Amino acid sequence: MFAKCFDPTGARHGLPTYPWRYAPDGLATKRQLRARGLRPGGQSIAAQIMRPRYRRGPLVAYLYRVDRAKPVRPMTPGKWAALAKANRARRTCPACRQDAGYVIPTSVGMCVPCAYPEEQRAA
Ligand SMILES: [Zn+2]
Repeated sequence: MFAKCFDPTGARHGLPTYPWRYAPDGLATKRQLRARGLRPGGQSIAAQIMRPRYRRGPLVAYLYRVDRAKPVRPMTPGKWAALAKANRARRTCPACRQDAGYVIPTSVGMCVPCAYPEEQRAA
């Protein structure tokens, strides 16, 4: 059956082809990489998996090498520090200078105990 031309489905000739669910270890689809916080990172397709469908062309998914995948967002220590600082600033209440533990809503402008002291006492 693989002698048939599968081009309209996106299947590629000359690529290692595996049945659906039988992808070898170390290879993953884009979706599987994404679930691990990875992306193909410019590497070429390593293989493809195919699932035959009744009266339609097979479903094709491309596989990428996990060891050549890259993190979705490469973060440098400097970027992490800047992000942490920005998040801390957004969590710090300007009224009591405490880290509220959540991002202060700009509509309120301060932490909940400062914004609603009455309701806090009632609760
Ligand atoms: Zn406060």
